[in-house]
Amino acid sequence: MSTHVIHPEVSRSAPAGFEEMVVRTGERSGATIAIAVHSTALGPALGGARLWHYGSDDEGVADARRLARAMTYKAAAAGLLLGGGKGVICAPTPRPEGELRRALLLDFGDAVESLGGRYVTAEDVGTGAADMAVIAERTSHVVGLPDERGGSGDPSPVTARGVLAAMRACLEHRFGSPAPADVRVCVVGAGHVGGHLATLLAEAGAVLTICDLDPSRRRLADHLGAAWIDDSAEAIISDCDVLAPCALGGLIDAATVPRLRCRVVCGAANNVLADDRLAAALASREITYAPDFIANAGGLINVYAELHQLGPAAVADLLGSIGSTVGLILDAADRNGTTPLAEAQTLARRRLRGTDLG
Ligand code: NAD
Repeated sequence: MSTHVIHPEVSRSAPAGFEEMVVRTGERSGATIAIAVHSTALGPALGGARLWHYGSDDEGVADARRLARAMTYKAAAAGLLLGGGKGVICAPTPRPEGELRRALLLDFGDAVESLGGRYVTAEDVGTGAADMAVIAERTSHVVGLPDERGGSGDPSPVTARGVLAAMRACLEHRFGSPAPADVRVCVVGAGHVGGHLATLLAEAGAVLTICDLDPSRRRLADHLGAAWIDDSAEAIISDCDVLAPCALGGLIDAATVPRLRCRVVCGAANNVLADDRLAAALASREITYAPDFIANAGGLINVYAELHQLGPAAVADLLGSIGSTVGLILDAADRNGTTPLAEAQTLARRRLRGTDLG
């Protein structure tokens, strides 16, 4: 079963600001596994398992730390009783399959189990529901299992509903009505989340433009009666009311901000701003920005519901709270002369201190 077996080396010294850090060599795969537990102040640290072929193990360990901290803020800002953590599997090859993949996942499962439930894992870049089923052979602290295993399955439809709730709050703040009807929205990246979001927006009567690098996504644009742009550089600066970045991060950088012609930026992509300081540049151009980690919290809500066996009504409530949170932080940013991003970070910190919990 295993490719090569060596004794696991375990390190548990946590860097400053983290509760726990596990770095170990997989018993079956020999690969480096890292799990960073940033905070369990609000609940078990939940964060996906990233399976990636890094340039070096140190890069993978650093990624686990960076992503774990972001999960703490995302959960706290979404009002979820969850902490922040992240798991990284440093794959020895770019897309491991077969026995090697299984060995990596079982090794990761052992590392998750060693944390006794203080960290709960889920899907992330490079892993999917079928991989969670393999990890579940070694630990029960895993969510995002396939539908047939009673899991929550593909999170992207729920993520898209959350982004729509955030967008409605932005529209209300900016134009006085939350309704997307007749609003010109440009969705950049029509994959899992962007495709669902575009469909919801079309149903709500928005005037859509869709952009994707993948020409096969044009079929969706045609089906929805949307305009099509195949060049994202052109799409980002197109004349629209709402820019909805749903591709990779860093789409909006210092060179792009002065050229934007939208009034609102609200999408699913993680780290949509190449640099946090660009939140101020957007504000000075009077572009309303829904911070990504609030707008895209639906994916986390999806696995939270699986963890706590919540039904559709509770999920709908949590998704609705994405909208109300965006409304609150946009108002606070206006009132305090700050940015929505700064207000979102303040909200998360307050919840972590317990000063914002009822
Ligand atoms: P995906 O891979 O299914 O879709 C991304 C799409 O973007 C693909 O169709 C791809 O061709 C396209 N794309 C990539 N670069 C592009 C570019 N420069 N211009 C135009 N199109 C481009 O991914 P996804 O699951 O839909 O996730 C999209 C984003 O949302 C990611 O940043 C992800 O981290 C974030 N996110 C996703 C979820 C979820 O539930 N899937 C939850 C939270 C956050």
